[in-house]
Amino acid sequence: MKRPLYYLISALVVTSCASNPYRTSEKSYQKQLKIFKANLLKKESIPLQNGKNTEWISTVNFNLRKPNFIIIHHTAQDSIQQTIKTFTLVKPQVSAHYVIGDDGRVVQMLNDYLRAWHGGNATWGKNTDINSASIGIELDNNGTEPFSQLQINSLLSLLTKLKKDYNIPAQNIIAHSDIAPTRKKDPSALFPWQVLAEKEFGIWPDLVLETAPADFNAELALRIIGYNTKNLSAAITAFKLHYIQTEVNDILDEKTINTIYSIYKKQ
Ligand SMILES: [Zn+2]
Repeated sequence: MKRPLYYLISALVVTSCASNPYRTSEKSYQKQLKIFKANLLKKESIPLQNGKNTEWISTVNFNLRKPNFIIIHHTAQDSIQQTIKTFTLVKPQVSAHYVIGDDGRVVQMLNDYLRAWHGGNATWGKNTDINSASIGIELDNNGTEPFSQLQINSLLSLLTKLKKDYNIPAQNIIAHSDIAPTRKKDPSALFPWQVLAEKEFGIWPDLVLETAPADFNAELALRIIGYNTKNLSAAITAFKLHYIQTEVNDILDEKTINTIYSIYKKQ
């Protein structure tokens, strides 16, 4: 019994030391946490414009700020390994909290309370710093293939946990394309938003659409939902990519207007 155990332990030690390709990124993660800790411990006096200085008196009542949005992406890459590699290199300057493989594997890459770099230049309503307010979930998908059942099952389980942990409203589970309509098209039209909405992750239009009132302003409604409508064509296309997945274009026809009205009423 002694020898197999010895071999097992030495094998584990050798494997963890020699073949961990993420040792450098792990070290860098720990180093950055140390810097954040040092910053959190600072109690500096700050000089203000009017000649006064701030003074510090610690309160006892506080905790960490929580994420309030979940942004869903597809990776547009060929494998989860490729995405993990991208997120462990400095140069691409991108990351997400979770990456889900098409086999259902869920990889977490940073703590939920930390700010990942997945939204880029993005807005939702008046929120101009989505990365600070959100958790990013990347789905391993090349952008043209269907999302596997195993992957969606893992996503639903993860959403169940995150929505409960941080009390995230259903309306705040949205797409990268929603928050960056001129730049992003993910997740693709094959993403099952309706399945998610049935479990209260996101929202979905009424199956029988009510006709919008004659004076209904679709552009204003899109803005109230959260879309940046500076480029109205891009905002309409992003809306349809999410809610009318069979007709992804910028045509504001009656069905589109009524669908916008339906989503608007659910805000
Ligand atoms: Zn994305």
